[in-house]
Amino acid sequence: MPALAVAARPDGTSALVAASGPDAVDLAAARDAGLLDVDIDPAVLVAPVLNPLMAAGPDTWRALGAAAAALLDAGDTWVARDSLSLRGPVAVADYVDGYGGLHHATNMGRILRPGGEPLLANWRHVPVAYHGRAGTVRAAGTVVRPRGQVVRDGTAVLAETAMLDFELELGYLVGVPSEPGVPVAVDDALAHLFGVVLVDDWSARDVQSWEYQPLGPFLAKSFATTVSPWVTPWTDLEPFLVEGLAGHQDPAPLPYLRGTAPALPDCTLQVLLQSETMREKDMAPALLSEVGFAESMYWSPAQQIAHATVNGASLRVGDLFASGTVSGPDRERQAGSLMERTWGGTEPVELPTGESRRFVADGDRVVLRGWCASPDGRRMDLGEVADVVVPAAGS
Ligand code: MN
Repeated sequence: MPALAVAARPDGTSALVAASGPDAVDLAAARDAGLLDVDIDPAVLVAPVLNPLMAAGPDTWRALGAAAAALLDAGDTWVARDSLSLRGPVAVADYVDGYGGLHHATNMGRILRPGGEPLLANWRHVPVAYHGRAGTVRAAGTVVRPRGQVVRDGTAVLAETAMLDFELELGYLVGVPSEPGVPVAVDDALAHLFGVVLVDDWSARDVQSWEYQPLGPFLAKSFATTVSPWVTPWTDLEPFLVEGLAGHQDPAPLPYLRGTAPALPDCTLQVLLQSETMREKDMAPALLSEVGFAESMYWSPAQQIAHATVNGASLRVGDLFASGTVSGPDRERQAGSLMERTWGGTEPVELPTGESRRFVADGDRVVLRGWCASPDGRRMDLGEVADVVVPAAGS
């Protein structure tokens, strides 16, 4: 099934688009031309977000995916994927951000609680997460440097963050709701997924370190969470599922978290950074990190969903579960955040221009990319999230 997105047409209307490689098709235009042989409410194809399609259910997803694939094979209605102006892709219902990356959680524990046990006692039992702000999850583009309450010279002040950071994550989009009061079984959880996006969970570390105790992230995260405009259907990821690190959990989790099938996609994710000076000099973005998803994640999406519903909380169409930051064991080459790469800002990273970064600077363009690969050589692109950071409003 091709990747799906919402394109903004020149006249301001929206169209559902599907793409494979460099080629895309406008599915609304194809239907108007009588080329889309699918029983579907036409309003779904011109909606500004994918939610109406998600709500239409898996039978419709499959039928539309097959029809889109046929159009892409035929070739007569192609438009260049690069030429599309994208919006959406999803009006997020509830947003949950996980903390399931073993190396990330270990690094953060070492940075924030030096000398102590890096992983707290609950971490290997509970797929730790928090509810984030759904209304500020949006398509990538620009991120405005946030202001917040921080401590400078021992005094609490309101200031622009001096520690703006990215977090490299994968996001799971729910397309099939669940019944209130009825937990989703771990082996049924993946059937609720519509697709995946790459997620950049933007973070203001100085705000975070002052505000987070005892209730966790709040304004340090809620200013912006950006997602890739293209959504990869979950069924496309099924051939790439492996046990990964989640297949080696010790101690064994409680029975409601014990799945019987591989549940982590075998994907490679990257972080790239291009400063304003690099763009002026036509220099390519610098690769900061390249990390294997399945070797980094201790908790799988099936376990995140089983845990999030075990108390009877229900899933809604448009819910977004983010994996948590994806970092590998080698923080110099596999860090999913600058917090880890520069060890809390103490070890700056050098760019090809000679510029250095402790955290993200105004004018920086941060790009997250990903793809999946299987042992038989199949490869599937997950697209990218790319944001340019602009100065705080009014500064
Ligand atoms: Mn995060």
